[in-house]
Amino acid sequence: MNYKIALIRGDGIGPEIVNETVKVIDKIGERFGHTFEYVDVLLGGCATDAVGVSYPDGTAELCKSCDAVLLGAVGGPKWGSDKPAEQRPETALLAIRKDLGLYANLRPAALRPALADACPLKRETAERGIDLLMVRELTGGIYFGRRDRYETPDRGVECTDLMAYSEKEIERIGRRAFEMARLRRRKVSSVDKANVLETSRLWRAVMHRLAAEYPDVAYEDVLVDNCAMQLVRDPGQFDVVVTENMFGDILSDEASMITGSIGLLPSASMGDGAPALYEPIHGSAPDIAGQDKANPIATILSAAMMFRYSFQLSAEADAIEAAVDNALAEGWRTADIAGPGEAAVGTKKMGQVIRDNI
Ligand code: NAD
Repeated sequence: MNYKIALIRGDGIGPEIVNETVKVIDKIGERFGHTFEYVDVLLGGCATDAVGVSYPDGTAELCKSCDAVLLGAVGGPKWGSDKPAEQRPETALLAIRKDLGLYANLRPAALRPALADACPLKRETAERGIDLLMVRELTGGIYFGRRDRYETPDRGVECTDLMAYSEKEIERIGRRAFEMARLRRRKVSSVDKANVLETSRLWRAVMHRLAAEYPDVAYEDVLVDNCAMQLVRDPGQFDVVVTENMFGDILSDEASMITGSIGLLPSASMGDGAPALYEPIHGSAPDIAGQDKANPIATILSAAMMFRYSFQLSAEADAIEAAVDNALAEGWRTADIAGPGEAAVGTKKMGQVIRDNI
């Protein structure tokens, strides 16, 4: 099969980590008999430098003409908050997510066996294993609700941020979570604050309706405060965790930290119809850009998610994940994951070692 992939190399370490990932994808093509066509898409600070805006006209259309989108990272001090919105990389990120209708953010948090020591939790907790998938609603809730700021006669300035969710928004993210659970260990933990919030009571009612439709998937409700505690006490209990936008923002960072380095974790953002977007969870790391120091693993594992979810090629996804685990088991480390006294290799070498393991 031939697949068309949009590449947003972006800023900082983006081009370096995307380069290594493209070579991994090509190696998978050689081994499994696929071909790939790449379409370079200009977005972020590099687009501002080249054409004056971070999100050039036609970007979404170009991405929509592809089967999937791979993004390195965008941003950097050069295009900071003193710049007009249309020149800032963050504006472009929000715009592409919106234009592709990406409402579901999937972040696996898995402790790679060779890096169990990087887990900040107790050894016996790490030994039970961590392999969960956070499914976060990405386009609704308090981040997109009406905001207000006004003077009051007696309390000074007062502000409000409105959290709103519709049944339709909850149902589509819930369904996504149950479908994902069917590809994994068949358990969904739905996180809410139904003891306080009306949006959470609607969330819970919709999730219960869906749970009845998926009798083969175990289901539980978890209050968000309890979830935050359980993630550090016993993260091995979770398979798929589904939650609304703000809870997911916070919990997915917590889940990332318990698995070690930011340089290891991939993500996917999906909608209905349009291509999904795959990217590492970290940013453009301007402090190490252009120095062959960045860990390419998070981006390479994002490509594994692309094979699994956009191309439905799970053997190819497994091959990438196994190659990463083998490279780590052989002792190869980039600086961000090297322990005391361990030698570190650069971005290119790590990419090469992973390809050698495919
Ligand atoms: P960051 O993730 O870029 O970096 C945080 C720290 O982690 C830095 O010390 C960096 O060197 C290190 N790091 C990150 N990725 C690494 C990797 N692959 N290998 C080794 N070390 C790595 O976060 P930040 O410093 O807060 O943000 C830098 C820029 O990235 C900002 O402009 C921010 O807006 C942007 N950003 C972009 C995205 C995105 O493109 N989706 C996400 C987050 C931040």
